[in-house]
Amino acid sequence: MFKFKAILSALFFVTLVGCFHAKFLAQTVDRPPSVFTDAGLSRADAIRRYVLSSDYAYKQAGYLSNNIGPRLSGSPQAARAVEYVAEEMRRLGAEVRLQKCMVPHWVRGEASGEVVEWTGMAPGTTQRIVLAALGGSVATPDEGIATELVVVDDYDALAALGEQKVKGKIVLFNFKFDQQLQSAGFGGGAYGQAVQYRFGAAMAAAKLGAVAVLVRSAGGSQNRLAHTGSMGYADGIAKIPGAAVSYEDAEMLAYLAAAGPVKIKIRLTPRTLPDAESHNVIADVKGSEHPEQIVIVSGHLDSWDLGTGALDDAAGVAASMAVIEALRALKIRPKRTIRFIAWMNEENGGRGSKAYFDELKDTLADHIAAIEADLGASHPVGFNFAGKAEAIPLFAPLSKLLLLQGAAMVQHQPGGVGADIGPLTKAGVPSFAPWYDQRTYFNYHHTAADTFDKIDPKQLAEVAALVSFLAVSLADMEGGLPR
Ligand SMILES: [Zn+2]
Repeated sequence: MFKFKAILSALFFVTLVGCFHAKFLAQTVDRPPSVFTDAGLSRADAIRRYVLSSDYAYKQAGYLSNNIGPRLSGSPQAARAVEYVAEEMRRLGAEVRLQKCMVPHWVRGEASGEVVEWTGMAPGTTQRIVLAALGGSVATPDEGIATELVVVDDYDALAALGEQKVKGKIVLFNFKFDQQLQSAGFGGGAYGQAVQYRFGAAMAAAKLGAVAVLVRSAGGSQNRLAHTGSMGYADGIAKIPGAAVSYEDAEMLAYLAAAGPVKIKIRLTPRTLPDAESHNVIADVKGSEHPEQIVIVSGHLDSWDLGTGALDDAAGVAASMAVIEALRALKIRPKRTIRFIAWMNEENGGRGSKAYFDELKDTLADHIAAIEADLGASHPVGFNFAGKAEAIPLFAPLSKLLLLQGAAMVQHQPGGVGADIGPLTKAGVPSFAPWYDQRTYFNYHHTAADTFDKIDPKQLAEVAALVSFLAVSLADMEGGLPR
């Protein structure tokens, strides 16, 4: 609620400033002229209503997650997903091409962990630790690593321990995912705080001589599931194995470590194979007046491998596919080209995003807007926007129509709204993403429970309807957004 009021007053303020300037400059208008015409908005709203009542996106998300399955970069399933989506886009009459990119090819192998010594243990027993290797991790020796565990809450606590207390040990970063923040609707914020440990823990611990690192999962699962995700290494720092432990096991380990010395054993057998050839799928519905000008709708086709990548991000790909299906079904051809992109390798490298930017960076002026859907399939309350603040008052007519599906909010996020379109955003392309209800997404994110059953058909249709509406509105604008 606070945020809503803040946004309303920000909108009001920007509008006031706009009025002042307009009068000062003796213009005849006292508001920024709308770039969204009645004709364009009525087409956009027709497509919005069609997609809202369609199960096309839901069926596509089901096929990608259940029929094809997890789509880790370099895997046969990722390759099949590229083929499948390209075939489907061709069937819908779009102009399709595959854009090559070389992707990291990491395979998970096995992971196991147990506590082998602790205060109060019954002789000869162990306790299981639920863990998952972090993406990109090196393996432990085949027999595993068994050594003393050191538990810290954050980087400062690790630094305070110093090399003497860390060398030769396994470090657990026990930074707590903020459940309350997530429950309040800001799961993304809670994730943002926690994910720095998943990414940076191995480097920080290795600098002090640790032999492996565990991180408390950067997510909200309380069903004893570990949240995987990519981790970082740096040149000149030893590469040590890294794994995420479930919320429950992080709590247990911290409890035991507070009571006395704890020794654990972990075994991880991932492998990094040579980079593999893969592709972004690009499918265009050419514009009727400005075919060279492009509005992107997108999601990422690769996923993590513990679940089936339903919420992350079959949902976003499917919502974007629904735009192309609706254009065909309603025989709508907007003035500008609508370009569907299924990005490859968002999760562990961003190579698809980079390949697109590298190839098309000389055509940025023709990229009118970019949309990315990559935060699940929950009801969207509106949209996030990355671009010039002066554009925000222009969105009022969009919000007026989106209010009909409870999606009237606009949030300015100038730092960016999606990883794959990030390079375009940084280069000045106005960027959009659904503003999702984030109260549950991070309970499943990157876990074995990111599966198709978590997608509610009505809510996914709402996401697809929002994306379709934005895409067609932007493709039919008179002139462009300030940039
Ligand atoms: Zn994602």
